[in-house]
Amino acid sequence: MSRWIMHIDLDAFFASVEQYRNHPELIGRPVCVGHDPKGGNGRGVVRAASYEARAKGIHAGMPVSQAYRLCPNAAFVEGSFESYVAASDEFMEVLRDFADDGRVRRASIDEAYIEVSQTCLSYDSPRELAIEIQESIRMRTSLPCSIGIAPNMSVAKIATGMNKPRGITLVGPTQSDVESFLAPLPVDALNGVGKKTADWLHKFGIETLGQIQTMTLPELWPVMGRGSVWLHNRALGIDDRPLIDNGARVRKSISKDMTFFEDIRPDAIVYIHESLKNMCSRIGDKLIKKALRFRTVTVKIRYNDFTTIQRSRSIPVETNDTKLLERLALEIFDQKRNSLKPIRLVGVKVSGLSDVSEQLCLTEFM
Ligand SMILES: [Mg+2]
Repeated sequence: MSRWIMHIDLDAFFASVEQYRNHPELIGRPVCVGHDPKGGNGRGVVRAASYEARAKGIHAGMPVSQAYRLCPNAAFVEGSFESYVAASDEFMEVLRDFADDGRVRRASIDEAYIEVSQTCLSYDSPRELAIEIQESIRMRTSLPCSIGIAPNMSVAKIATGMNKPRGITLVGPTQSDVESFLAPLPVDALNGVGKKTADWLHKFGIETLGQIQTMTLPELWPVMGRGSVWLHNRALGIDDRPLIDNGARVRKSISKDMTFFEDIRPDAIVYIHESLKNMCSRIGDKLIKKALRFRTVTVKIRYNDFTTIQRSRSIPVETNDTKLLERLALEIFDQKRNSLKPIRLVGVKVSGLSDVSEQLCLTEFM
């Protein structure tokens, strides 16, 4: 029996929920989830863009004022986070029906892995099963998705991205199928190779996964050190991780920190404030993506003499409000720092995490 893993990713998730579930009149139109652009004078960023909006050059993270200039007739909707959570839950339930032993590995609010080795036995091909899953998701949630099918999670995830939206990409089942699929791809196609690692590999003339495939481990070692085995295996499409259901799993904390290239003098506090705000907004994005809320904020400060302090504050009701997170982090920092010592590192952590509950309103999430 071949091992088959599917990675299923809902296409343009937030925007699709608005089009296909909340506002069917917006189907086929450019849609941005974000604040009212007020004729180009509005504030805030685009949270998500439909494919029609992307075709106009709009993308998530762009200021709404800029998106408005690119496409004045796009629909701007505030969005409703509870409707996204509901859609996500329905999506995961559909997957559970097809997954071997009902195991679903949720990767984020709009993507998940399932193993379908057993299920595939009752279909002519894995592709036929994928078509049926895609159709079931469309029938039961109204949402479009793309599916990657491969012998393991790492390759399935890459496959999904090859053919979006509404694509199905099958890789395998043999090792040589997997290798020839990966060979032409850039090194950062791998989940886990970020820009930093990619830039580093480029310095050694390594651009594609195929190049890594032809290297031996001793050849790769001087470049990647202890990361060599992992990278070599992934470039060859080898990934033996079992698919473990994490449906009910909740993360314990999310944190970011930043070490400064030079110690920051106590009077250059604005710079540290900016770093803290930046970390808070990245944590906020992650909370939204993972459908989590926090109750406790911790700020870590390391001084130039390497002494480190950590101070926390908890709030009575959990939230995923980035502005509130930012305010708490700055308050803790301002109150607890030793204003005479240069600072070497600051960090922010949120904990006391819980899944977003149904009472949530979207003003908190925007
Ligand atoms: Mg998606």
